[in-house]
Amino acid sequence: MIERRGFLLVLSSPSGAGKTTIARGLLARDKELVSSVSVTTRPPRPQEIEGRDYRFISRARFDEMVAKDELLEHASVFGHSYGTPKRPIEEALASGRDVVADLDWQGTEQLARSLLQDLVSVFILPPSRQALFERLQKRGEDSPETIARRMAGSAEELSHWTEYHYVVVNRSIEKSLVQIEAVIAAERVRRQRQPGLACFVAALLRE
Ligand code: 5GP
Repeated sequence: MIERRGFLLVLSSPSGAGKTTIARGLLARDKELVSSVSVTTRPPRPQEIEGRDYRFISRARFDEMVAKDELLEHASVFGHSYGTPKRPIEEALASGRDVVADLDWQGTEQLARSLLQDLVSVFILPPSRQALFERLQKRGEDSPETIARRMAGSAEELSHWTEYHYVVVNRSIEKSLVQIEAVIAAERVRRQRQPGLACFVAALLRE
């Protein structure tokens, strides 16, 4: 095995563009990927599981994590706070594992400044505005007011698509998965991620 450093694959999109489904698909199909579990002050939705979807924490605990510098990034989205715990990401990257995170543009912007080459960012666009609205409604997890707020917020999130390394239009989940898997495969062989290559090549030259 040639020593490799992992990367953090960030997926962003307006709510309802299919980002959560894509993240789950990537994790189910590639057992080498691990998921970043964010902390949030938002209350859980009915189907959500503590520790899988999020760690649901109090405002006081969130503020403590910020004060103790335990978060790699954090942001306020739709009136709730969200953050990425630092330790699990640092450990995964150092041990050569790739991590998938679902973050908004504010979090991605912070990570672009701190993680530099360890960040691979993908923006997922919905195929149409109508599709976005229908997916938010079909989800059946949010009130009409929340759906309206999320639709209004989608323009803000969408305007940040130019800040990402890759952009995928989610016309079908399967096509999007194949495209993002191609990104992952390519990013895994980036020279800078393989600090073990120098030794490997030196050994080749000695043989
Ligand atoms: P939701 O409440 O629908 O689960 O997520 C709302 C938004 O917060 C989504 O755009 C999601 O990507 C973003 N989000 C989830 N976790 C984090 C996080 O740890 N950091 C940041 N910056 N955004 C997050």
